[in-house]
Amino acid sequence: MPALQPFLEDLYDRYRDVSEGQLASYIPELTKANKDWFGISVVTTDGRIFGVGDVDQPFTIQSISKVFAYGLALEDRGRAVLLDKVGVEPTGDPFNSLIRLDEDSKRPFNPMINAGAIATTSLINGADPTGKLNRLLAMFERYLGHDVVIDMPTFMSERSTGHRNRAMAHLMLNFDMIAQDIDSALDLYFQQCSVMVNCQDLAVMAATLANQGRQPITGAQALERDYTRDLLSVMYTCGMYNRAGEWAYRVGIPAKSGVSGGIIAVVPGKAGIATFSPLIDKNGNSVRGLKVFEALSQEYGLHLFDLSMGRCVFTEALE
Ligand code: GLU
Repeated sequence: MPALQPFLEDLYDRYRDVSEGQLASYIPELTKANKDWFGISVVTTDGRIFGVGDVDQPFTIQSISKVFAYGLALEDRGRAVLLDKVGVEPTGDPFNSLIRLDEDSKRPFNPMINAGAIATTSLINGADPTGKLNRLLAMFERYLGHDVVIDMPTFMSERSTGHRNRAMAHLMLNFDMIAQDIDSALDLYFQQCSVMVNCQDLAVMAATLANQGRQPITGAQALERDYTRDLLSVMYTCGMYNRAGEWAYRVGIPAKSGVSGGIIAVVPGKAGIATFSPLIDKNGNSVRGLKVFEALSQEYGLHLFDLSMGRCVFTEALE
């Protein structure tokens, strides 16, 4: 079995020329990405860092933020309130699916689709919009271990073109699933999507989830330990848009992707893995990212239900 760092370099060479997929264009600002950007990062729960390619290139986190906002909302309101407003059921629908709120409960199906994410973000505590934003940014800083910035052009781009998201918020308001002030909730949601990260940051965030909420480099508890399970469960069942089932089948670890081209995945107890390449497929998942994760999962037996290699294989590769 190959050691991890040379294997990452091999994967980078193998997939760097894959040119399938498109840049996300429904958020105008995202079309400015460079198609060649490609990075792979792994951070272990004991703080070791592996990586290759454009691991320092900043980009907006987009949908990957939904996982972490869900954690903060859970800490603020608890499981019962969250479950009352947002389900935990996969949909198989695209991320921006408009109409499908659960017919009986009127809840959005889960916190990883846009409707559920907007409802989730609206539950974050704070005295006013600035207070909520500051708490959200402080949460990201606990995971990242450094200051965060919001990319204003992307925020403004989403704010002025996000009519679908706005329509979802109105629909949820109609069913009393979200508080009155939907403009503030949407602004906060667009701000969380516009937080700047790089590929290595994402791997650190994923490693924090692998480490029961404790940031492996700073030692900060970024998320109450108890809620790690909640986040990983919705990632596993709902994290990869309408490809979540196939991902669970082929790769088999909790993950979340975003339309700017990032994917994070968690090897519980061991490591966080992130890829970044902005060419996405029709489901919204990074094409090169999918290939890298399938190869990593196969090589190191990462699939949670694959016991054929013994569960220590990945640990050996890290030695
Ligand atoms: N901010 C994007 C939206 O709401 C996030 C989409 C994504 O990354 O899936 O449409």
